Amino acid sequence: MFREVCEEEGNRERREHLLLIRTSKPATRPIVDFYTERLTAAVRKAISQLRSKGTIVCSCGATSPNIRLLLPNGMVADVHCIHRMVFHRNEVPHSELDKINSLRFGEEKPTDSELILPPTTNRGWG
Ligand SMILES: [Zn+2]
Repeated sequence: MFREVCEEEGNRERREHLLLIRTSKPATRPIVDFYTERLTAAVRKAISQLRSKGTIVCSCGATSPNIRLLLPNGMVADVHCIHRMVFHRNEVPHSELDKINSLRFGEEKPTDSELILPPTTNRGWG
């Protein structure tokens, strides 16, 4: 245990990623369920936010500043993670759903700004 804590500072890339996936399809009809709500609660309790250069550009055209989030359980996500869960659920691997299932920070409904709505021209559901 103690060794792990000491190594943390120099080995940030070894942290487990959550939903840092690249999507390739347009947005689907939004899905807000307990997975989404568990993720939202964890994101709101993020320990820190790290703004990196550039912009996150999703396959559906939704964009936002490139901000990494350190979740309270030590996992690293980014500001698009809720968006991917809601608009790209069919591209989210089961392994990511399992990680979200293990989050224990409550369940909260995401707001529109947390969802990062896709451009209307690029929504698969019209
Ligand atoms: Zn998207």
